[in-house]
Formats: sequence, C-alpha cells, structure tokens
Amino acid sequence: MRGIVQSIKGLLGGAPRKQSQDEFTEAARELHRFKRQPEERKKRIALIREELELPKLSFTHHGFKWRKWRWASITLINMLFVVSFHYDVQLVEGALTASRFVGFHMADLNSALQITLAHKHVVINLVIGAVTVGILWWLVGGRAFCSWACPYHLLSEWAEMAHLWIVGKGWIKGHPLDRRMRTVLYVVFALLALGTGYTVFESISPVGILSRALVYGVGVAMIWVGVLLFIEIFFVRRFWCRYVCPIGMTYGFLGSVAPLVIEYKLEDCLHEGECRQVCLVPHVLEMTKKSRAEDAVLSIGADCTRCGMCIEACPTGALNFKIRGSGGLL
Ligand code: SF4
Ligand code: SF4
Repeated sequence: MRGIVQSIKGLLGGAPRKQSQDEFTEAARELHRFKRQPEERKKRIALIREELELPKLSFTHHGFKWRKWRWASITLINMLFVVSFHYDVQLVEGALTASRFVGFHMADLNSALQITLAHKHVVINLVIGAVTVGILWWLVGGRAFCSWACPYHLLSEWAEMAHLWIVGKGWIKGHPLDRRMRTVLYVVFALLALGTGYTVFESISPVGILSRALVYGVGVAMIWVGVLLFIEIFFVRRFWCRYVCPIGMTYGFLGSVAPLVIEYKLEDCLHEGECRQVCLVPHVLEMTKKSRAEDAVLSIGADCTRCGMCIEACPTGALNFKIRGSGGLL
C-alpha cells in the first residue's frame, strides 16, 4: 500500500522520497552492504569501465526491439481508424478519443471526464466506453496507452531524438520544468470544462488533433502540434507528455495498480544510470541510484509507460517486464 501511495505522489509531481536505511528491508540492507565491500566495489567499477569502453549505442538504438514493436502498435491502432473510415469497414468508427469498436462504445478516460464535466450530465454510453477502455489499459499497465497507442507519442519520440542529438552537439541546453505543473494543469482543464461547458482541453490536445487529422484530414489545428514539437526539439525534452498531458496522468492512476509492471532487481544493478537516460519519466527509476532501493525487488511507479526502453538500456538485465504477483518474468 505504501508503494502505491508513493507511486501516486510521484505521478502528481512529488520529488522521490529518500528513505532512511532503517526503512529498508533486511534483504536490501544486506545487498547495499555487500555492494559497498571494497572487492565488490572494485568489481562494479571495472564492469562499468568495461561497459563505457564498448561502442556507445546512440539514443536511437537504445531499446530498439521494444521500440519497433511499439511503433508498429501505434501505427496499427491508429491505422485501424483510418482504414475503417476510408473503406467504410465499420470496424472502428470515430477517433482515438471516442469511438465504437464493432459496435461497442469506447471512450478515452480523460475525454469522458472532460465531456461529463462540461455537460454536467452522465451519459451511460460514455461511462460504458470509458470503463471498457479503462479496463483494457489497466490490464497492460495504464500509461501503456502512451507508448503503445498514442499518435503524439510517436512524433514526440522523434522530436526527442532530434532534441538529444542537438543537445549532444552542445548547440542548445535542455530546460527541465517542475513536474507538478501537470497536476496543476489537470485541475485547470477540469475546472475550465466545468466552468465553460466546453471541453477546452480537447481542442488543444495533440492526441485528439492528430487522431482526427489522420481520419478526417489535416486542419489548421496541426499548427499547434507543430508548435509543441518545436518546443520539444529546441527547449524542453518531452514538454507535453512530461509536464502537461492529463491523458497520461489519468492512465497513470490506473498504472499504479495495474497487473503489468516493470520490475527492478537491486542485486543485478550496477547503478550507472543508463536506464534513467532513456526514460520519459526518469523519476520513476530513482531506486536505481546507488543506495536508494529500499527492497531487493521493486516495481516501477505509476508514471511508467511500460515502453521497455530501460530494459534494453540496462546492460545487466536488472529491469524486466513482470506480471505483479507472478513468479516468472516476461
Ligand atoms: S502523455 Fe499524453 S500525449 Fe504523451 S503519450 Fe501519453 S497520452 Fe500521448
Ligand atoms: S521506467 Fe522503463 S518502461 Fe517505464 S517509462 Fe521509463 S524507460 Fe519506459
């Protein structure tokens, strides 16, 4: 339970809490002690040196296997809407925010919330659609929606590659913002819907804009998507997904209790931080820092998008997909 509370605090923008050694489990204390022994320290440093001497993988190669599957998944999910509309297949009608899948109502949770607040009226089909979608994304980890379905995630990943390349050249600096901004905006968007009777967020959400553009054609709203990508390339890494998007946050709440998680094993970790470098939400990997893990095995927090990039970035296999409560790793 404490883990879930911490994970939701992290989702809301809270700084990762540094626990005192007294709060660590005996297994974790023992592993930390072991890693501090001079011989073990030397071994670890030698391994890190060895790793640094390997030809450095570029950011584009990190997590490439999972990335290929994710890109295929995003393309497939979004193309279903396009193909259905253009060929009148009636498999999926609508866009990613609200649709009907072979006749069943489907609604993005955040869109359903915005519509309900704006119209101050509970539409039963919307509830059915939101619950159905909620259960589906809960099963695979909540924010898995972000990295496996969201069309903006794909563009934003490309923008991130460009951003990191330019930063690597030393031409610009990144400008990290306060993560609590997303929580404040979450409330602001909800109040705007409630106060204006209009789903303000939907008109500026690149997720809805892109999804509708794919199905019904490009409109002037795409300029806004271009502006966001410009900000992400030249100023703030993953600006929208890290600091603004309430959709990601809504799915994050589901992720805090989802069956599919990323599991961290302290014993296998070298603490050199490759995973944190590739992660969209590196605060969830705080336990991978030296002497920070409070248990020998931990689940990564609610904000994790289950993208799998940390798994492949980690040279020692300390991170893996896992079904909560199951013995085996995926
Ligand atoms: S945070 Fe929002 S825009 Fe980013 S991937 Fe998730 S749903 Fe898409
Ligand atoms: S912790 Fe790993 S799986 Fe989760 S978002 Fe970060 S890189 Fe992706």
